[in-house]
Order: sequence, then C-alpha cells, then structure tokens
Amino acid sequence: MLLSKENGWKKQTSETKELIFKFCEEYKISLDLGKTEREYVQYGLKLAEENGFVLAESKEKLVPGDKVYYVNRGKNLVLAIIGKEPLEKGLNYVVSHIDSPRIDLKQNPLYEELELSYMKTHYYGGIKKYQWTSIPLSLHGVVVLENGERKNVVIGERDEDPVFTIPDLLPHLAAKVQGDRKTAEVIKGEELQIIVGTIPTTLNNPEIKETVKYAVLEELNKAYGMIEEDFISAEFQLVPAFKAKDVGIDRSLVGGYGQDDRICGYTSLKAILSLNEIPNKTAVCFLADKEETGSNGSTGLQSNYLEYFTGDLISRTKDNYSDLFLRKALWNSSSLSSDVSAAIDPIFKSVHEAQNAAKLNYGIVVTKFTGSRGKGGTNDADAEYVWEIRNILNKGDILWQTAELGKVDEGGGGTVAMYLAQLGIKTIDVGPALLAMHAPFEISSKLDIYESYKAYKAFYKEMN
Ligand code: MN
Ligand code: MN
Repeated sequence: MLLSKENGWKKQTSETKELIFKFCEEYKISLDLGKTEREYVQYGLKLAEENGFVLAESKEKLVPGDKVYYVNRGKNLVLAIIGKEPLEKGLNYVVSHIDSPRIDLKQNPLYEELELSYMKTHYYGGIKKYQWTSIPLSLHGVVVLENGERKNVVIGERDEDPVFTIPDLLPHLAAKVQGDRKTAEVIKGEELQIIVGTIPTTLNNPEIKETVKYAVLEELNKAYGMIEEDFISAEFQLVPAFKAKDVGIDRSLVGGYGQDDRICGYTSLKAILSLNEIPNKTAVCFLADKEETGSNGSTGLQSNYLEYFTGDLISRTKDNYSDLFLRKALWNSSSLSSDVSAAIDPIFKSVHEAQNAAKLNYGIVVTKFTGSRGKGGTNDADAEYVWEIRNILNKGDILWQTAELGKVDEGGGGTVAMYLAQLGIKTIDVGPALLAMHAPFEISSKLDIYESYKAYKAFYKEMN
C-alpha cells in the first residue's frame, strides 16, 4: 500500500559490493580518458569495435543481431543492435550527453600585460565561475592549421605535463574588489583567464613589442606548427586536470569531472555492449553533444541526426525505403532521456522538497517531468509510459526512486527529453543523482552507478 524505499546498501552482500566497486574502477578510468565529447567518442568507439560493432556504412544489408555504429562529426557516437522486430515497430533509445560544463578558449585568446602572458576564455554551460579558479586545469582540443592539417592537443594530463590555472585574488586584498559582488560575479566571465607564460623571447627584434606573448607563440609553433591565426580554426577546452577518485572513508562515492552526463554515457554504453542476446526491438545507445548549451548545432539533439541515422538503419533493413517507415519507427519508439538528477544534501537541504528529492544510494532516479516555473520546457512523460518503465525496473529488481529537481519555485533545469518527444518517441528522464553537479569535481554513488547500468540493460531487453 505504502510507497517505501530504502537505502540500497542494506540489500548488498560482500560479493555484490565487490562487483559494484569493481564496475566503478573502469568508470573512473573512462572519466579520465574522455574529458571532452571528442575524446569520449574515441573512447566509446574503441570499446564498440572491441565488442564487434562495425561502421554502419560497411554493411549494405542489416539483419537481427547485427551491431553497427555511426559517428557524427567526431562528437556524437551511436551504437545500435538490430532487433528481431522490424524497425517500424519502434526502436529503444537510451540517449545521454557527453559534453560537460567547462571553459573554452576565446577565438583570439592570447595577450600580454605587465610582462605576463594570458589567454582569455568563454565558459561553456552553466558553471559557478568561482569554482574554476585556482585549480589545475588541462587544455584539450583540436586545431586545424593554415595548411589544413589537424592536430590534437592535450596538455596537462600526464604527470610530467604543465597545467594551467585561473589565478584568484588573494583574500588580503579582495574585500573591496570582490567583497560585495554577488555569487555569479565573484569571478566575472572576463576574469576567467589562464596564465600561460612569463619568459620573454630571446629574439632581439625591436618590432616585437609583446615579447612574452611572442615566446608563447614560438613554443606553440615548435610543438604544433601553430600560428596565432590558427586559434580561430580550433576548439580548445580547459577541464580539471585531476583524475577521478574514490571519495569518503568507506569509498562509497566517486568524485570526478564530467559525471554530468558521462555517468549515463558510460552506463548505457556498458549496457548495450553487454547485451548477449538479440533484443526484440532494435537497441540504440546515443551519445549526444551540446546539451549543456541547449542542444543546438549539428551535433546537438535539436539537429536531425537522430532521424538521419534511424532512416539509414531502416534503409539497410528494407528493400523499399519510404519516409513513412521512418515516421512510424519514431512514433512507435521508446526512449530514456538519460541524464543526472540532483541528490539532496544536508548542507543545502532547503532547496529540495524532501519527499520528492533524490537520495544517494537509493538507485536510479525516474523523473516524470523537468523544467522550471510551472514545468516550463518539460516533456512530462505520460502516465502510461511511466507505468511501462516502472514495471521494467520492478521486474528487473532494480533499485529506483522518483524525484523532481528541487522545490517548485526554487529553480529547475531541462534535458534532451523534449527533443526526443517532439519526434513522437515516448520519453522519460531516467538517471542517477549527483552532489555538486556542474562543479569541477562532481560526486556520485557507486551503488547508483551500478543500478543505472542494470536499468539501461533491462530497458533494452524488456521494453516492447
Ligand atoms: Mn546533463
Ligand atoms: Mn548539466
């Protein structure tokens, strides 16, 4: 009669605890290897190929059991296993995003003042800017040189590498400048700048006015063949330089950068890779980009890529492709919009309504609706679809809870759910909860990570 949930650790044995902890060791490695969407695509691609997935284009005809992948401009990865049922009966999509809040370099970033050289930035996604100062940052990205050659750049991940940092103001002198600023402005956007050099060039050329900046460009030219204009045809991202770690005396938590939303990327990848029987419906693991800036762009979920690859899949399973097959396939499909929720925290519990707040160690969170100010921007899953999901989770003995993101008038947030729903796909938000979401060091529960993996696997197997 009563809805009662309990802490999932109470049900675990020493064997299941070991299994859960072991699963999270590889998860931590995935966070270290994939700190940008491009790197995460490469990481996922390697796992996919090791598990028998091949490029979809390499197969003219697809039959049940075939495993294929698509890569969209290096920033979306899609894995699919063709199911027994024809695709127009619908597919099962688990959609997460692999971009995370971070700090991008500006297109013309480099300057010198007071004989110090800095680079200017423009942050990406919803960050509390002050959290990103005075911590070690690594620089990741690609640059396309004047001659068209593309170079990958990663500085700050190896032990011997230098790192970067945004120096904050010392407290001794901060009272006037920062003391009265609001949280969002403790550090202002234009103050998010990294220090990159202090030694002047050895060239004795009176035409070189900015000698330290010039020396930085000399180093970049030596290492990558770069000139200053190449910054324009580049994507450079600053991310925390530290590695993911266990957190707490009992090691029950994982701390690390980019868990929103690679926690769902990883668990859904592992779920599709571990399907060893041919699923009834075609199973799709979709790793999206650009969620943190609104899902715009050709690699975000507001683009037509989901329709494009689904149409392509159908055309490889049928002789006479028609657009109606694609429309039917989408309208008959089911999806999990796999994204993180906010876990309640005793320090700031007032922002949540406890009865409808997510708790660490209580399993994956089923979020019927997201949005803010009266469910603005929500998908709000149908009661019937919530029933289907609830049934699959219960039958699979998966630990789950239900929550909304904060008190009604407190704030809120959105996910990709509405972009799936507008294609006719049945959609609900399902993902684990984090503490300190969008911080450089986010916190998740090992138990919830494992239950998320189990939930995605059960969805692929059971959703009909
Ligand atoms: Mn997210
Ligand atoms: Mn986010």
